[in-house]
Amino acid sequence: MSNRLLVKNGLVSNEEGISPVLAVSIVVPVYNEVESLPHLIEAIASTLSNTDLSYEIICVDDGSKDGSAKLLKEQAEARTDLQAVILRRNYGQTAAMSAGFHHARGKAIVTLDGDLQNDPADIPMLLDKLEEGFDLVSGWRKKRQDAALTRLLPSKIANWLIGRITGVKLNDYGCSLKAYRGELVADMNLYGELHRFLPALAYIEGARITETPVRHHARRFGSSKYGIWRTFRVLMDLLTIAFMKKFLTRPMHVFGLLGLISISFGGTLGIYLTWVKFILGEDIGNRPLLILVVLLLVTGVQLFCFGLLAELLMRTYHESQGRTIYRVREVVGRDIK
Ligand code: UDP
Ligand code: MG
Repeated sequence: MSNRLLVKNGLVSNEEGISPVLAVSIVVPVYNEVESLPHLIEAIASTLSNTDLSYEIICVDDGSKDGSAKLLKEQAEARTDLQAVILRRNYGQTAAMSAGFHHARGKAIVTLDGDLQNDPADIPMLLDKLEEGFDLVSGWRKKRQDAALTRLLPSKIANWLIGRITGVKLNDYGCSLKAYRGELVADMNLYGELHRFLPALAYIEGARITETPVRHHARRFGSSKYGIWRTFRVLMDLLTIAFMKKFLTRPMHVFGLLGLISISFGGTLGIYLTWVKFILGEDIGNRPLLILVVLLLVTGVQLFCFGLLAELLMRTYHESQGRTIYRVREVVGRDIK
């Protein structure tokens, strides 16, 4: 078995003999990108054919309504380097990427967006970084071409927060252009917005992570599939991750802390009431506002815990079923795995 990550000519030997293993799989989640796709596929193919690496492009159609799936299927039939994985409906970018990972055969996996905002010309540079010994190389859109107020500002805050909470500080978690050592992501079951936290999840698994500046272009065709709500969804996922990291090892750190907070609120209110009754000599039996405050606090804590537990249960459920969160309608092109 070759020690080197990237295998030239697409053949490596393993214990069972010679098996076809590719050097690189390029995974692209696609939702309504019909105009960009031909340019993108060409750009990826021409960049990689200039290297001597064997590669495949896996485009995952995430329930597009604009003919992207049809175009991908046609292209996948016509070319030898493209596989089209067509999902049954729109599951979201994370699920689409997860589907791409599951179909990928490359020793290295590179992800990028289907809208030409990432530049395929950066791929060899990311692969070089993997060769240097990193397990995950994350792109950093130093000159990001997106709206300042609705995109750049929320991202800045999110990057800072994610860095603080997960301990993996990156300038640009949101950059889709990333390269991974295949085995790192091959069997990850991602859901929600978790693809954004791949560096943090990988770090928990002991991965060596680095970040490198990449190009970024404004969207040429179509429009962004996201608005301001994504920040909210990402933040909720971040809370879950922060919780999971602790929960899996020390549940008492989580529940204990919440319990303490709850008790200190109750205690403070209790002391206040005692003070009102015994020092001021007032009757406290008629303070509806206080009852309301206590009720809200207790309910809030309960709901928070319930949400987290439900999230964990969902995860356990998915894993115990051995099922993925997406369903594939059709796979076209290359010999199907
Ligand atoms: N995408 C997807 N499923 C979705 C939404 C988006 O597969 O439900 C894909 C989309 O086609 C693109 C990538 O995810 O390739 C990033 O989406 P977009 O460019 O809209 O995000 P932005 O660049 O604005 O963050
Ligand atoms: Mg984009």
